[in-house]
Amino acid sequence: MVSGIIIWNGRRRSSARGYPSDPGLQCGAVAPSCQAKSEREMRYVEHAKSFLLASLVLLAGVNSVAGETAMMSSVQTAGNPQNEGIAVGDAELAVVLGAKPSPAEKRVAVLLTERIKNRTGMALAGPGGKTELRLVIGTVASNEKIKAFSAGRKDIASLGADGYCIASDAGKGELYVVGQSDSGVVAGVGRLMREMRYTPGKLELPPLQITEAPQMPNRGMYLWARKHFFGKPDQVDRYIEELALWGCNALAFWFEMGMFKSFDDPEARHWLAMYRRFYQTARRMGMKTGLIMVVNDAYKSSPEKLHISPIIGCPKHYLCPSKPGSVRQIIAWQEQVLKALPRIDIYNLFPADPGGCACSDCTPWPTRGYWRIAKPLAERIHQISPKTEIWVDTWHLNHKTFGGKDWKNLVASLAKDRPAWFAGFEVGLAPHHRFAAMSAEERKYYNEAKAPLMVFPDISMWRNHRGMLVNREYWKSLQAELNDYSPELMKGGWPYSERWNTDIASVVFLSWFWNSKKTVETVLDEYASFYFGPEAKTGRELLNLLDDACKDPERREKIRETLAKLESSVPAWVKKDWRWDEIVKSCRRLK
Ligand SMILES: [Zn+2]
Repeated sequence: MVSGIIIWNGRRRSSARGYPSDPGLQCGAVAPSCQAKSEREMRYVEHAKSFLLASLVLLAGVNSVAGETAMMSSVQTAGNPQNEGIAVGDAELAVVLGAKPSPAEKRVAVLLTERIKNRTGMALAGPGGKTELRLVIGTVASNEKIKAFSAGRKDIASLGADGYCIASDAGKGELYVVGQSDSGVVAGVGRLMREMRYTPGKLELPPLQITEAPQMPNRGMYLWARKHFFGKPDQVDRYIEELALWGCNALAFWFEMGMFKSFDDPEARHWLAMYRRFYQTARRMGMKTGLIMVVNDAYKSSPEKLHISPIIGCPKHYLCPSKPGSVRQIIAWQEQVLKALPRIDIYNLFPADPGGCACSDCTPWPTRGYWRIAKPLAERIHQISPKTEIWVDTWHLNHKTFGGKDWKNLVASLAKDRPAWFAGFEVGLAPHHRFAAMSAEERKYYNEAKAPLMVFPDISMWRNHRGMLVNREYWKSLQAELNDYSPELMKGGWPYSERWNTDIASVVFLSWFWNSKKTVETVLDEYASFYFGPEAKTGRELLNLLDDACKDPERREKIRETLAKLESSVPAWVKKDWRWDEIVKSCRRLK
């Protein structure tokens, strides 16, 4: 165990091993907020690069009190906080929250403490303990120390919504995570966790000076929380928190009425209770709540006389909005669900797959059947909850079954009229989907409508995406399609997440919400660094071998060898993460 705080001088250089890809630096170099960096920040990047190399070499040899003392003296004389990284040992780092921390601040401090404990075996100093280094977390409103530190700092004053700043004051022995909001604090601490380097009895903090704000306001995840998750809700809670640490700020569920006999079905009540629980977890992390509702969804016991005329992908018991009494019934049902849940920030009106009706009165679906229910439903939701953003999803509407080109009339009409409840359109992203793929011409139409946009990516986005597989080439095509939309219109989205199938894809999407130009290579480096630790380079090699597009003729053999190498070299904490098991399973499927 190390005692005493160790400060390194960043100018020292060496060819160190371990943590080969520095995600923070790469990310910082391309993040939008970093694109027009001040000279000082650019210098930081250079300093930090050399620091990382130096610090790792020094770490390898640090074990003497004399060495530590010498290093400690440098903190008093160096006078250049951008140059210095810090390592702390057991009980040498304290987390300082404000006098009245928000639930998100309290929770993220606990998560940080747990992460450090799990990876280094170290405890943080308890409240009131005197330490050489303090990590000060919060917002200007929640923490007096943050307020004092932020005074006069233009970069902090100009942080965009949900942005964060990580900065140090070596003279005071303080490192700050300044958030612009709860979500910003959580994302900032998440970033800090990914910048930290963990070894037994030792925690290294690079000399950070990062300012980042997300490009898009709705950085959501549509969590496929189904019944088989309900037996392990603690894991779902933890996963929601992990998504928040990656910058996710919204959580959506689909309440599928068709799974239940009625609203009073005990099973429906059980689902609502679980959703309430998960929303509470999300809210505690500073996240927004989202609900996806198919407009003509109905319970299994729905009156037969109101049923739809069959249409692809839609169960028979859904209601035809053109039949007398249907619209009133649908609104009443959706109102019940809305009122049974905590405040919903974002409500999605979903049109099809499932949904729709093939009767002549509902055809074409976009401007007739869909609109017949979407308009009064949106008005009622807006009346009940005026602050709820209501988004009109157009998934599947560009297919001939759902009206061919009629979706354009819907888009043009809403974009022109802009009812008070209307937040924007949610567009599909599914290049390989036979029915829902979007063309360049269609994307142009949305851009020209000039209404805000969110995106709903297809669940099969990674095609053969079992386990932890990735497909970098496919992501590049998705990214190009996403970046076809006007950046000033694009407000985020809800990728489909079911944890083990989609963790890497989820992280890639979250990164896109923060910075639409960030490369998949950078994101994977950051991912590998965080979850493989000092074996990040080998971990990244393994991810590349697992990539769906990998055509290496010796792929199987290499997967076997690389996995074996990792199995014998990764720290124990790597194997305790559920991702390790998933990666091992993916390897076994292929080798
Ligand atoms: Zn109908």
